[in-house]
Amino acid sequence: MTVHLIGAGPGDPGLLTVRGAEVLARADVVVHDRLVSAEVLALAPEGSERIDVGKRPGGPGTTQDEINKLLVERGRTHQTVVRLKGGDPYVFGRGGEEAEALRRAGVAYEVVPGVTSAVAAPAAAGIPVTHRDHSSGFTVVTAHLDPAHDRYLDWDALARLGTTLVVMMGAARAASVAERLLDAGMSPDTPAAAVQRGTLADQVVWRGRLADLGREPVAAPATLVIGAVAAEDLSWPGPGPGE
Ligand code: SAH
Repeated sequence: MTVHLIGAGPGDPGLLTVRGAEVLARADVVVHDRLVSAEVLALAPEGSERIDVGKRPGGPGTTQDEINKLLVERGRTHQTVVRLKGGDPYVFGRGGEEAEALRRAGVAYEVVPGVTSAVAAPAAAGIPVTHRDHSSGFTVVTAHLDPAHDRYLDWDALARLGTTLVVMMGAARAASVAERLLDAGMSPDTPAAAVQRGTLADQVVWRGRLADLGREPVAAPATLVIGAVAAEDLSWPGPGPGE
């Protein structure tokens, strides 16, 4: 009896790992997030129990405590329990808290990493997060808290790094993110991009200058990319976004 914390990838069902698909195909229970696609869920056996614990912005959802309890309870009574999360389970996925709860309860677990949208969404828009000529690193942060009042992130330091800045959960806060970075001295001409529904067939990419980021509404889920690499457009025609 094991609970498998599986990363479902950024959206395109083809970006689920082989290991993830293999475990999902023998799942008795699937506990999943809102962002996980119907195509990925369809890989679970027909008779398996599916539980949607997705949190809807501003709406009711299952609390993290309830999810932890559910995983422990199902993990004690079922052979193969899958906890399916968007992207990678340990990148802003609260997978760490779930693994802690399972360990505390003495329930066996496994983590199956996933392709994180922090890297895959920019890639699908033709943006490499590092590039020998433009950026020697990338920093992934969340704009879950308003950058104007976030005590946990040093936005002044982020503005000085000179590497690629990838911002998640920032769709509604794109303008505040830009404002905070401009206040910290970043150039208004810094290239920026907002990759919305990255890797999915209806992917939308906004590109422009940091000074204009968020002037047009950015639809969630979106990954923001700020830095020289955001001026790159290596998107491709053919299968997948860019068609
Ligand atoms: N664990 C996930 C992230 C969960 S937080 C991962 O590794 O990808 C949710 C955030 O992920 C969203 O607010 C958005 O910033 C990003 N995201 C998820 N799916 C996305 C997609 N298809 N395109 C762009 N960004 C996405």
